[in-house]
Amino acid sequence: MTTDEIIEMFDKYVIANYGRLPRVIVKGEGNYIFDADGNKILDMFPGWAVSGIGHCHPKVVEAIRTQAGELLHIDNTFYITKQGKLAKLLSERAFGGKCFFCNSGAEANEAAMKLARKHTPQEKYKFITAHDSFHGRTFATVTATAQPKYHDGFLPLLAGFEYVPFNDIDALAKAFSDEVAAVLLEPIQGEGGINVATNEYLQTTRELCDKYGAVLILDEVQTGMGRTGKWFGYQHYDIEPDIITMAKALGGGVAIGAMMATAEVAASLVPGTHASTFGGNPLACAAAIAVIEAIEQEYLLDNADKMGKYANQKLQQLKDKHAIIDHIRGKGLMIGVQLTKTGTKIVDKCLAKDLRINCTNDSVLRFMPSMTVTSEQIDRAVEILDGVLSES
Ligand SMILES: *Cc1c(COP(=O)(O)O)cnc(C)c1O
Repeated sequence: MTTDEIIEMFDKYVIANYGRLPRVIVKGEGNYIFDADGNKILDMFPGWAVSGIGHCHPKVVEAIRTQAGELLHIDNTFYITKQGKLAKLLSERAFGGKCFFCNSGAEANEAAMKLARKHTPQEKYKFITAHDSFHGRTFATVTATAQPKYHDGFLPLLAGFEYVPFNDIDALAKAFSDEVAAVLLEPIQGEGGINVATNEYLQTTRELCDKYGAVLILDEVQTGMGRTGKWFGYQHYDIEPDIITMAKALGGGVAIGAMMATAEVAASLVPGTHASTFGGNPLACAAAIAVIEAIEQEYLLDNADKMGKYANQKLQQLKDKHAIIDHIRGKGLMIGVQLTKTGTKIVDKCLAKDLRINCTNDSVLRFMPSMTVTSEQIDRAVEILDGVLSES
């Protein structure tokens, strides 16, 4: 089938809830994707943060192949070896908590919010979240997502949510009360435009949660699994959360979500309170285990840190050349280029030159290459962007 025929098929049979780029991607390998017309595209935003160690990482592919021949799925009525092993690996790389598995970021946040409610007294029913956050598209997570554009057409939303400006300590303190069950924040806001929390902000959030007996949930769906140069975004700060949520890069391309809670908080999720049919199935867990092993065996945390600094430096040089770039921000391989005007056309022009990047919050170009990215690939990406910015 040609690209046009496939797009026609979509027009007829697939609900048009996504704005899609006019390419059909048929293959992925490392930091490249290949379209149906034979173009090889340098991917600086692989899988919308899912392919965190590149497309079709050989260790992940092999783990899936092997697991598929042994056991694809078994229900949570039984014990599942790989689920236990993955929980142990994650726990040892975070704050020693216990895990619950599901299939997506939104589900992980749903689990976290339900657990926070279950764990705290009944009069505590409120959630505080931040402007420009993104937590998912289910009713509770879209309510938690404090961006009006995501709420449009879905009112009334869930009760009990209060929204505060990100990194604003006074606003957070003012919003707090004995009715707050939890604060839910991203350590670095992803969809909101790569907004990095300050240390003081997260520390004060931790103190306020302790003072009022509320649970601190950090949404690590985008910041987790090494992208920032540490396993989890919170590890750049001098705090420990009560709950973290993960998904995206966790399965190396396979759908999996997870919530980790301290043993004390986790104890409230007793049989009958929450569940997921597919959650923690052997196939997804085998893939996630392979992701963790690949990150360690190939020193990818170190590479994310180094390449993050390198990309930042290269983009800073572009800033000196192009007035449209206001500033660069981020951590590790989570990089935002703040423009002085809208950047959606720049994304299209880069794609025409076989470079995939993203634009979020209208004026932030987002570079989130995989942790296997090389300096040559970053050079090439910056070169293409330089050319596009020089034209416009
Ligand atoms: C993508 C994302 C989600 C939602 O994940 P889904 O798998 O699409 O449900 C939640 N939180 C953050 C920070 C995300 O980036």
